[in-house]
Amino acid sequence: MAKRRILAGGIAQESHSFNPVLTGRDSFTITTGTDAVARARATNSTLGGIIDTAEEAGAEVIVPVMFRAQSGGPVEEAVFAEVREAMLGAAKRGDFDAIALPLHGGMLTPSLHDPEGLLIRDLRAIVGAAVPITAAFDLHAHVTPMTLAECDLLAGYLTNPHADQGATGRRAGAAALAMLDGRLEPVLAWAHLPMLTLGNDRTDQEPLQGLQARARAAAESGAVWDASIFNAQQFLDVAGLGQVVMAYGNARSEAAEALVAGLATDLWAARASLIGVYPSLESCLARAIAGTPRPLILGDQGDRVAAGAPGDSTYILHALLKAGAELPAIVPVTDAAAVSACRAAGVGATVTVTLGGRYSTVAPPLTLTGEVISAGEGASLTYEGPAEKGQHASVGPYAVLRVGAIRIVLTAYPYSYIDPNYFRAMGVEPAEQKIVVTRSGYHFTLNYAAIGECITIDTPGMSSYRVSELPFTVARPFYPLDEPEITPEVRLLRRPA
Ligand SMILES: [Zn+2]
Repeated sequence: MAKRRILAGGIAQESHSFNPVLTGRDSFTITTGTDAVARARATNSTLGGIIDTAEEAGAEVIVPVMFRAQSGGPVEEAVFAEVREAMLGAAKRGDFDAIALPLHGGMLTPSLHDPEGLLIRDLRAIVGAAVPITAAFDLHAHVTPMTLAECDLLAGYLTNPHADQGATGRRAGAAALAMLDGRLEPVLAWAHLPMLTLGNDRTDQEPLQGLQARARAAAESGAVWDASIFNAQQFLDVAGLGQVVMAYGNARSEAAEALVAGLATDLWAARASLIGVYPSLESCLARAIAGTPRPLILGDQGDRVAAGAPGDSTYILHALLKAGAELPAIVPVTDAAAVSACRAAGVGATVTVTLGGRYSTVAPPLTLTGEVISAGEGASLTYEGPAEKGQHASVGPYAVLRVGAIRIVLTAYPYSYIDPNYFRAMGVEPAEQKIVVTRSGYHFTLNYAAIGECITIDTPGMSSYRVSELPFTVARPFYPLDEPEITPEVRLLRRPA
């Protein structure tokens, strides 16, 4: 028998409807062909999981393109068009047996609210019903009826903070292979809930821990083939925003229906408890000033690049400066003009620059005089992990400005700093600080656990969980902005053979 081939690739980015800065091609790490396969193999990424599963089964993976970027504003139309053309072109060549797509599921373009669903629909139109199409999505995907209708099996991360990217890719890859072997005939049971999780939504804490455990137990026992609970990215102003609970049976649906009915009912009932309560910036600063045994690693909730915010908030920096600028701290700020000014002056120079507060308007820009202690472009790093351990990334133009004991890490592009090696790549050591600010709400807590105490704090801004302060229109009604009256309803979907 000829070696089986799996077509993989695509685009992975999480968008934020209210971030006016579009995500352009420069923000993506782009890999193609055998190089994309070699770089992703054995990494904790969805593409890595698809490749590892396929290769262990003696199959080969073809990757026309893989575009990956951190969260941000909607993706420029031309970028998505480029990926779509590359994937559809590869699909038309037809030299493969199945498709497994490592996507995010929460991406937007200025005109498209469900680009991933459209990509899957277009691939389906080319290959027909007989070729298996599976996908691996982030837990924060906006899962639409179109995606569910066109995809044979969709697997979502089961962890938040996300630690199972590779395992999710493996589920998608294994399902495609099982369908090719005739061992799997997926039948989907799913339910949609018009509600958001707002902070108390870690999967290692209740209520999601127990719900995820039930989903996992059902899959492990063989009662269902696969199950996922999607907690949508909260900042998507799109129709149908909410939670999706889903399970696939193998040729039969009863256990999947029962599982989804139970999980959806209990998730809806738990909606009030999914809204988190966070410590204030003031209380954390007071603790740091009094002295803590380990650095306080702060997630700036209101300006989480990890949730698609712009990363140029000066809210915490204002507070550190007001406290005297003597607390050793790292604060990252996105500001391309400030980076240029610092790089023009050079390392060792004293400069006065205006920085931040351009898109995040909860605190004004700051004009500061300091010393440029590091600067450059293209610094590369490898994630220390455990989240996305081994993932390669690089930082575009950057400069580090020291003001008192504060290191202001200026970058031309936004980063979420979920791994301490971002700062190390730019010459600053997080473990030596009293305060380190990240632009993440969850994921940093895994990768900084070894060096500090991780705390997400209640700061205002575009990615704050105070969603009543955001201009939602299309996505409404949803809880907690509205009180929709619903009874969770399970729907069944069996794809035509
Ligand atoms: Zn996510």
